Amino acid sequence: MQQLILPILLASFWTVCTGTGDWCYQSQFTCEHQCKVPDEWSHVNSNCGGKQQSPINIVTRKTLKDENLTPLQFTNYQQSFKGTIKNNGHSVQVGVSHLSTISGGDLPAVYKALQFHLHWGNNGGPGSEHTIDGEQYPMELHIVHMKQHYTDLTTALADPEGVAVLGFFYEKSNSANRKYEPIISALQSIKATNANTSLLPISMAQLIPSEKNLTSYYRYKGSLTTPGCTESVIWTVFETPIPLSMDQLKAFSDIKFHDGKPMVRTFRPVQPLNGRQVFRSGSAMTLASSALLGAAITMALGLSQHN
Ligand SMILES: [Zn+2]
Repeated sequence: MQQLILPILLASFWTVCTGTGDWCYQSQFTCEHQCKVPDEWSHVNSNCGGKQQSPINIVTRKTLKDENLTPLQFTNYQQSFKGTIKNNGHSVQVGVSHLSTISGGDLPAVYKALQFHLHWGNNGGPGSEHTIDGEQYPMELHIVHMKQHYTDLTTALADPEGVAVLGFFYEKSNSANRKYEPIISALQSIKATNANTSLLPISMAQLIPSEKNLTSYYRYKGSLTTPGCTESVIWTVFETPIPLSMDQLKAFSDIKFHDGKPMVRTFRPVQPLNGRQVFRSGSAMTLASSALLGAAITMALGLSQHN
């Protein structure tokens, strides 16, 4: 039963993402291909001009610590599965066909994973959708979930808290991240739009930081970051980035848009907060503040030595 329902779910999600017209990222616009760039997405779907849009720039000193933002519970994230990765013309996306869920961390329900996809820059340049204090990371992973009791995403999107997306940043590292090899090697087979290929077995757990590094995160109410931009998403953006080597990051720039041009800079610019509060988990910003404390101590020691 589940095997029948999930492909339909994924197909309906896809309709929501792309069925609204000829939208594109800024990088795709040319005089020959006059698609609707992010500034014009509100003409594709009026939701995109709404007051609770994503992504946003997270100003850490304006975030509010919320003790209810405890660590999330991940169920079946460890399970290996043979997914299919697809170039859908805007991103690369992997459907999740087994039941894996998230709960806790003040989420109002249990949410099940539907798919994950990425947003990236040009050859490892800035490419994340969310930014932290104005810093744009080279890439961002979105794992899209909906409330467990819904059977299709259209229904979930009609619920202002129907969808939960987990966002993870990437950072450049000196060594290759072997856990990403199934994804990176598959990219060469899906350069063309609508191409897909099967992945070697992977688990979602292997793609994200270990659970002990997932206690620091930001939380706010926002939207899908592609048309129809529906404002029904509870966002959880994790502080700890995932390491990838420069070569691994660059491999994403081999993917092509429909017109054969490199699929690069696949991010929506940050949107106005419009008075929304961004919350942080109990331990978010501890890394930054301990670094600051360290710097202060070093400086104090340095000063005392000079005296
Ligand atoms: Zn996304």
